Amino acid sequence: MDAETVNVVVAGLGVSGAAAARALAARGERVTVLESADGERQRATAAELAELGVEVRFGEPALPAGTSLLVTSPGWRPTHPLLVAAADTGVEVIGEVELAWRLRQEPAAPWLALTGTNGKTTAVRMLTSMLSAAGHKAVAVGNVGVPIVEAVDGPYDVLAVELSSFQLHWSSTLAPLAGAVLNVAPDHIDWHGSMEEYAAAKARIFAGAGTVVYNADDASSSRLAEPYASRVGFTLAVPRPGQLGVVEDLLVDRAFVADPATSAEELCCLADVRPFAPHNVANALAAAALARAYGVPPEAVRRGLREFTPDPHRIAHVARVGEVDYVDDSKATNPHAAAASLAAYESVVWIAGGQLKGADIDDLVRQAAPRLRGAVLLGTDRDVIRRALARHAANVPVVDVPGQDTGVMDRVVTEAARLATPGDTVLLAPAGASLDMFASYGARGEAFARAVRRLAAR
Ligand code: ADP
Repeated sequence: MDAETVNVVVAGLGVSGAAAARALAARGERVTVLESADGERQRATAAELAELGVEVRFGEPALPAGTSLLVTSPGWRPTHPLLVAAADTGVEVIGEVELAWRLRQEPAAPWLALTGTNGKTTAVRMLTSMLSAAGHKAVAVGNVGVPIVEAVDGPYDVLAVELSSFQLHWSSTLAPLAGAVLNVAPDHIDWHGSMEEYAAAKARIFAGAGTVVYNADDASSSRLAEPYASRVGFTLAVPRPGQLGVVEDLLVDRAFVADPATSAEELCCLADVRPFAPHNVANALAAAALARAYGVPPEAVRRGLREFTPDPHRIAHVARVGEVDYVDDSKATNPHAAAASLAAYESVVWIAGGQLKGADIDDLVRQAAPRLRGAVLLGTDRDVIRRALARHAANVPVVDVPGQDTGVMDRVVTEAARLATPGDTVLLAPAGASLDMFASYGARGEAFARAVRRLAAR
């Protein structure tokens, strides 16, 4: 093997792996892709990559001799034998996001990056909308769907980058113009090994950032930002100098103004945040901080929020039936997310369940107890939730809906309707993943919406 040969290995032929291989091949690198699953989709992608001179090896292949760099799929655990083998032989392992950063060619579009346990997709879409409203060519990339290597040299002024903790784990030299951590709550601990490691991965977004944007209402986000002089906070309270926050019914900037000690700029009204919920105000403030770091004027922040369309299954109002609102927050797949959506409603019939993945539900139930009119439970971990309700909300009526059949959601909605009284909200905010019963959180939300429509038609 020629010692000069740059031999890049891409681990995994998923969306980001294929994009990484394409981007590397287009730049003349020698690329080998390793993929364990040998299916129709993988074969089709391999054939397409072969045209670009990329070799794809199927099975459980070993790291080829002469590998100089390994680009890993974000889902692979650090304990994967191939990644361990790379570490043992001194081969650098990076992710597709880090690769994209290294492939940028100046002058390149700056990155406005954000991460967090919950709210990433909502905030990154709000940010993109604000940037577009200001007349910039912007695109949402990263964890949100479009692989970042595909956009990095595209025709954009600026990139709105959503990063997961996995992507950050495999990144080391990112230097976004501004980086935000929305919140940090226990999630993916099995992958990272501990809460400390998970938070440390999130913190990587700050390391090279020009402006560090943190959530002043979230202890972990605040702690991670502490070492940085260039930090800007956001809060649902009245902002201090150096923060964005809320004054009466206005979102206000006291950071990106001429004199934060004495002046503030009005960005928009609370009513401009849709769907309205405290957690979406936090997302809007985070997005606004990143946009303002790039110089977006207040009126474009406001217009961007007004023009923003939320992705489905994120506190989506399905219908009002008999003076009861039915809301689909199927994307609340962990207790921190469900706690946020429960906090947005006064009197709630809570539909919960699914796979908790070992997450602790007690804090959530304790906080939500005063707002609960009732609870209807489905899916694998419904017993765990039932026991937590018995501990912290003993007076709240609970209906258990067993079964895995397609009729489960109809029974769930019927029971919820029986528990609800006029003015209540029936909220699907499961706190668990959907895969025990549904193909995705989207399929779960759609089953709920269909059941609500059948209820309305009765
Ligand atoms: P992510 O991309 O991080 O999964 P989403 O914007 O898709 O975030 O929102 C997922 C769910 O998390 C929402 O349906 C809601 O239940 C909850 N959520 C959204 N924003 C926040 C926030 N700022 N804090 C806590 N929970 C949130």
